[in-house]
Amino acid sequence: MSTAPPASAPGTVRHRRQPADGRAVRGWLIDAWYRDDGIAGPPVRRRAWRIFLRSLPACVAVLAAAGVVRGRLAGPRLGADGWALLALVAGAAAVAAARAVRRSAHGRSARTAEQLEIGAIFVVLAAALAQLASTRGGEGPLFPLVYLTAAVAVSFLSLGVGLALVALAAALQVGVWWTADAPAGELPGVLARVGFILLFAVLYHAVLWARLAAARRNEQEAVDRRLRELDDRARELRLLAPRGLDRDVPGEERRGLLRGRAAAVQVEAAMAGAMEVAEAALRSHTCALFLLSADDRTLLLRECRSGSDHVSREPLPAGEGVLGSVLSRQGTVRLSGDIRSATYYEDGTRPRALVAAPLVDRRGGHVRGVIVADRLEDQPFGEADENLLTRVAAELFRAVESERILVGLQAERDEKELFYGAIEQLNRMSKTQEVFDAAIDVASRIVQLDFGAVTLYEPEEVRRPHRVVKAVTSSPQGFQVSELEGLRFSAHTGLVASAVRHGSALPGLGERLDRLRVFDEGTRLKGLGSIRVFPLRSGDQTMGTLVLGSRRLGSFEGDASRQLEVIALQVADALLRARLFEQTERLASTDGLTGLHNHRTFQSRLDEQLLLARRHGKKLSVVICDVDRFKSVNDAHGHPVGDLVLRGVGRVLAGEARGTDLVARYGGEEFAVVMPETDGEGALVIAERIRTRLEQTVFPTEAGPLRVTLSLGIATFPDDGSEKARLIEVADGCLYHAKRSGRNRSARAIDLSGGRTPC
Ligand code: GH3
Ligand code: MG
Ligand code: MG
Repeated sequence: MSTAPPASAPGTVRHRRQPADGRAVRGWLIDAWYRDDGIAGPPVRRRAWRIFLRSLPACVAVLAAAGVVRGRLAGPRLGADGWALLALVAGAAAVAAARAVRRSAHGRSARTAEQLEIGAIFVVLAAALAQLASTRGGEGPLFPLVYLTAAVAVSFLSLGVGLALVALAAALQVGVWWTADAPAGELPGVLARVGFILLFAVLYHAVLWARLAAARRNEQEAVDRRLRELDDRARELRLLAPRGLDRDVPGEERRGLLRGRAAAVQVEAAMAGAMEVAEAALRSHTCALFLLSADDRTLLLRECRSGSDHVSREPLPAGEGVLGSVLSRQGTVRLSGDIRSATYYEDGTRPRALVAAPLVDRRGGHVRGVIVADRLEDQPFGEADENLLTRVAAELFRAVESERILVGLQAERDEKELFYGAIEQLNRMSKTQEVFDAAIDVASRIVQLDFGAVTLYEPEEVRRPHRVVKAVTSSPQGFQVSELEGLRFSAHTGLVASAVRHGSALPGLGERLDRLRVFDEGTRLKGLGSIRVFPLRSGDQTMGTLVLGSRRLGSFEGDASRQLEVIALQVADALLRARLFEQTERLASTDGLTGLHNHRTFQSRLDEQLLLARRHGKKLSVVICDVDRFKSVNDAHGHPVGDLVLRGVGRVLAGEARGTDLVARYGGEEFAVVMPETDGEGALVIAERIRTRLEQTVFPTEAGPLRVTLSLGIATFPDDGSEKARLIEVADGCLYHAKRSGRNRSARAIDLSGGRTPC
């Protein structure tokens, strides 16, 4: 528990006073300039010395800038002061450059202040050199250096710093002209120079920016191309499902794609190795591996080792030439002589010897490609060569097979992990609302969801037994609550009602989804490509449904649907558990006779509310009431009638208290009300409202109409006490006082004689 003490309370942390303005600015400047140089900390004298050394180049630059502006380096001959100035600024530039090198050697990039410092020194150096051998204010032979410096500044430093340096370069030009008594005739020349500086800066920045963007685009395209290639390869080798997958697929599907790619990389390496062996052993001119496309119509070159540049990289029709005959015969082919059927050469090369073997997928015995070797010389391949090529082909598919097994194992492991994670998450939920949230969360990890809802089936609501308890739609910020939440609908129409009736998942397929009735007649889900409704079944009981929708077509086919069905079963179990838990909690906290909170709940909720009241400095009132002369009701009409009246009193209390109040049966014919954020006045108003309402209420019983009255005692935090026990004691005392003063009344401590707290 923590309370906020008043500002003046002892032990309160007060902020130290900020230094006076001038000192603050100076401190900030020093900090901004030198912070990373290990200056904070050492004794003042050493620090001052280091600051002095550290700022020397910048000071020199300022000095040199002044010299340049005053035209100290202009004229046909350079005086001693000009040489000194030049030497100083060149030295400063060398020191700044050396620092930059050291910084980057330590892997640290320059901060803004450091960039400004080194940039400004070089701008001043360029301006100084530009002034050499020039007439006052005119252009020397080295003037282009100024343009170059401006261009480099905007290209390689951060944009803000670059612009500041360009402004400095321009200002130096204007300054030179200004201090030379500003002859008006030279103004156009100065403006032209300034304009050129700006132009150079803009052009360089634009060109560099465009080239960087192009380079990034090319790089991205190359990555995309390679990924597509790997996906194609994985599909050709049946390492991936042959259906189209885009790059943004979520969760499980995405992991499948990545697994397929990783396997394709491994198979590629195996293929390259096998081809190397085949080429070396067969001493071939060309040794090439062609794989069938996913639709089995074309052959594509996948690996090639050849002395020719003309082996076709274009898709070849799968039925043509020697490759086609290997595919159709599903056996090896060995040829010699003038071979015209080597259609894989673009330039019509005719090898003199050729051997080709099919790549047979051992799963299903399908042929997936051809490996071919040829020679240009008259050296026919022998039977041993043919066997070797067949062995290489077999080895190749063994590699594919083992990758496939690995992919399968990984998929199984990932699926298990996903399920364990989901089950664990669902098992942790003890509230039904949490189960609804978790259901959608878990489903969104399996498929890319654009819509998700949970409905409950409540048969006791005969006319409209279905209720949407959770509904979300996707947005760029994540899921947001849909207006469907809270909708009730009948059991006659829609997918949800059918799914509950039949207890099986219903696909939103084969019909126009926009017109599909999922919930009730008046509700349509728009813009979705697929919808599926999973019943939440536990045993033979269907508790509701999990409705999922995605913009993508076919999102709930195959594995995804199977996995989601299992998840729906888990959700149903979790829901059942959470319901039981909530029911047990409710029973443990409710009074059996009146349905109000019981004594235990009253005590714990009063503890909680007191904590909150203390933390937020709010008031809180407790009212304890007792039915007047209740014993006589029992004595006159019997206990059952007494019970009936007690239930009625409970109803009046619950009806007259506010939504934020907690009404509990304190014990016997005593009740208690906790009123958060309520002072004594407010509590008295509510107490009187309860009392008068009860006074007017007639309870029809088998013994005839009965009336009872109530006496109420009120205690308020913190006025009457700060501890729970004390507050209850005061409320009890007030109740006792109300009884003694004639019953059927409310009493507060402050209203008792002299405001004395009763005991
Ligand atoms: P007063 O409070 O005005 O001083 O008089 P009283 O008659 O209400 O006094 P007392 O507190 O002594 O009597 C309370 C009676 O309430 C005793 C008991 O029989 C009855 N009672 C307590 N719990 C129940 C209950 O659950 N059902 C019924 N029918 N009676 C109960
Ligand atoms: Mg009593
Ligand atoms: Mg009583």
